[in-house]
Amino acid sequence: MADHAEMTVMMSLALDGMLSSEEQKAFEGHLRSCVGCQEQWARWQQVDALLAAEPVAAPAPDFSARVLERVSQRGQRQRRLLGGALLLGGSLSVWGMVLLSLAGAALLWVLSDPSVAVHGAQVLSQLLGAGSLLVKAVGLGLESLVGPSVLPLLLTFVCVMMALTVLWARLVQRRPRRAPSLMLV
Ligand SMILES: [Zn+2]
Repeated sequence: MADHAEMTVMMSLALDGMLSSEEQKAFEGHLRSCVGCQEQWARWQQVDALLAAEPVAAPAPDFSARVLERVSQRGQRQRRLLGGALLLGGSLSVWGMVLLSLAGAALLWVLSDPSVAVHGAQVLSQLLGAGSLLVKAVGLGLESLVGPSVLPLLLTFVCVMMALTVLWARLVQRRPRRAPSLMLV
């Protein structure tokens, strides 16, 4: 048996223990006389030992489905995060404008009447007081600062700003629905 291509087939069969005793004898006989096939047989056995030591794990039947589901979930989570960030950013910018407007109004008020500055400082110290006093201080401070005639105007302004915030939130929330869905049915 000098056909080396046939020897390759024999090696494969030998590894699987599928050689008949006669074939096994012929196989071993050729190996003894052929250095090239000895080396090849040694490599075959190494590979076989490696494969036996680390069996290639076959993916579970629902593996790809689970991967796709996870990718889809990650996409949804990213969209939610993006929406939340946009919503937060929009709200912060709107309320930043509100605060700036209030600060500007307060500054104008103080400039027009210096005595208000002293009162304002008192209100400010009240505002800096921690915890539940804060909300009460803001209410009292606003009332004493702007007076009853300006307060409704200010409240209207705040209401408009809140409406703008809600509008912004709706715009941001609508965005993901327009995006092409990655969801798999
Ligand atoms: Zn050979």
